[in-house]
Amino acid sequence: MKTVYMDNNATTRVAPEVVEAMDPFFRDLWGNPSSMHYFGGQVARHLEKARADVAALIGADPAEIIFTSCGTESNNAVISGAAEILGRGARIITTRVEHQAVLGPCRHLKQLGHDVVEIGVDAVGQPNIADLRKALQHQPCFVTCMWANNETGTVFPMAEIAEIAKSAGAVVHTDAVQAVGKLPVDVRKTPVDMLSFSGHKLHAPKGIGVLYVRRGTKFRPLLLGGHQEHGRRAGTENVPYIVGLGRACELAGRSMSAEQSEVGRLRDRLESGLLAKCPKGTMVNGDRDRRLPNTTNMSFRYIEGEAILYHLSDLGIAASSGSACTSGSLEVSHVLRAMGVPAEFAQGSIRFSLSRYTTREEVDYVVEKVPVIVNRLRALSPFVTDGD
Ligand code: PLP
Repeated sequence: MKTVYMDNNATTRVAPEVVEAMDPFFRDLWGNPSSMHYFGGQVARHLEKARADVAALIGADPAEIIFTSCGTESNNAVISGAAEILGRGARIITTRVEHQAVLGPCRHLKQLGHDVVEIGVDAVGQPNIADLRKALQHQPCFVTCMWANNETGTVFPMAEIAEIAKSAGAVVHTDAVQAVGKLPVDVRKTPVDMLSFSGHKLHAPKGIGVLYVRRGTKFRPLLLGGHQEHGRRAGTENVPYIVGLGRACELAGRSMSAEQSEVGRLRDRLESGLLAKCPKGTMVNGDRDRRLPNTTNMSFRYIEGEAILYHLSDLGIAASSGSACTSGSLEVSHVLRAMGVPAEFAQGSIRFSLSRYTTREEVDYVVEKVPVIVNRLRALSPFVTDGD
């Protein structure tokens, strides 16, 4: 069966160059980088080379990079650490459209009695800056805010947010899991104190993450025990995956601008193709002017996103939906809800996320198949009238 993978915001294919770079570390170079002997020293060199390649992609110093197991771990380390460092009186500010890897730890702190404020967003998913300024009037304060949204692709003005928050005296973290590798991310231009990202969103394997901590920022480790990562993350380093991530960052840095403009062209071809073939009751969710080049989130009114996905999957097409079936009822995505997308649109939302491996033929196949499915489901929907 023909397969078309358009769910790259969920995870990406591991690049063949990355597999190749990792291979020797499963066979010959299996030493522990902390060991004093030859086996360790040989591996430690590669670990530090990968650290330098990762740092270079985001304009950081290698000493500011901590390897973790995933984006979720990086976010949890920062958020629980900030609450402890800043103490009970501190305010934690986030947005209503964050990934659960941020909302989960923030809401846990709220349950423990911390002052947690979730800033709302407008109709295209941009945060309300006036509300942010108001929330920042309370100090001390910690701000955690995503760089790019995983569901809609909306890109936040992170430099502006960081400048506003820093000048109010806050400590600032960004969840850049969807941004790194897809957009230029440079901590020299964006004054965040901490930044998280994850290997499996940029063609490295699952199970490797990064936490950038700007020099001088107070940091409390999540994992205690060993002295690895200069005492900032205990646990023997996952050397093969770290080496793979280093290679993935090198590839992303080298080809980002050409690759992303090609990916953007294919995404636009997909989006305009679908809008032309399904002109009624179709909308694009998110900020079309400030958006990840690989992402489109489209809503088809009066039908269920999960039903579309199911039929797409039968045709070998992998995408994802903004609604989740929980106990028999369709729960609308918290992101689309926060943007005020009407329920009859939000329930029929589909996210297509492309990558460097997506081809024009694949896009045309999806543009051919989706309208057939949408029309078939609409014909069955009790809500559709002749005017729709
Ligand atoms: N943050 C965002 C914005 C994400 O999209 C994801 C994963 O989808 C995560 C955090 C979690 O990353 P990981 O899967 O590496 O834990």
